[in-house]
Amino acid sequence: MTSPIYYNGQEYERRTSNDSLKGYLLATAASGAVLAPLPWLGMPFQKQLIKEMPNNREYKDAFFKALDISGLKEKGVNIVEAQKVLGAPPEYALGRNACYIPSAKQVLINTDKISCAGLHELGHAMNDLMSKYGVKYLAKMRGAGYAIAGLMEYFAIFSRTKPKGAPRSFTDVIEDNCGKIAFWAMLPVVIEEAIASYRGIKLAKKAGLAEPLVKNMKKLLGKALLTYGGRAVLGGLAVYASRKVMDYFTRPKEINY
Ligand SMILES: [Zn+2]
Repeated sequence: MTSPIYYNGQEYERRTSNDSLKGYLLATAASGAVLAPLPWLGMPFQKQLIKEMPNNREYKDAFFKALDISGLKEKGVNIVEAQKVLGAPPEYALGRNACYIPSAKQVLINTDKISCAGLHELGHAMNDLMSKYGVKYLAKMRGAGYAIAGLMEYFAIFSRTKPKGAPRSFTDVIEDNCGKIAFWAMLPVVIEEAIASYRGIKLAKKAGLAEPLVKNMKKLLGKALLTYGGRAVLGGLAVYASRKVMDYFTRPKEINY
């Protein structure tokens, strides 16, 4: 047996490197299992996006009208047709995705296919360029949110677990709460997406989009939000699961005689 460790007069047994390896393998497997439904979460959105394509003429009309009346043009926002840009990512050119690029003030989209998604992207542009109350900063936290959530997985798996009764350092506290932190780090993204959708729908109405199509848009954007919300929840749970498994295999055990 290896030499025991002591905290507050309590004796603990060190765990072996074999335990750590087992923990690592099972923790990554657990995290993978929790994240497995992720591609499936985005399916309802993708399906409806394709279903809305026959209505694109109306959406496209509303999209360009919305661009005019929103004041975004004056702020320097321009639309880049992904299908006409050489080397644009295929999912954008084919009309499977669209995005707003804040640094370039550009909406990258195929307006011949998915103008309904474009209205949501105009919502992002408004968040970036025309918002009060710090909504702008939610968008800026996007990158940091993803980075922190990723870092928490690292904390869950590679940190060294101390016995339960041991004094806690700053990194121990992070380690103990890594699942929650991963979830909270993703929340700004979810909130900013919701506000972009809300603004996109408001713009669509102002631009005169027919009521049944406004309804469809609400459904579509609701499904998109479900994807983001689901990602935050599953991301947090995956980190939590990894941490629990690592805990089980690497936390020193109390020795009581
Ligand atoms: Zn979005």
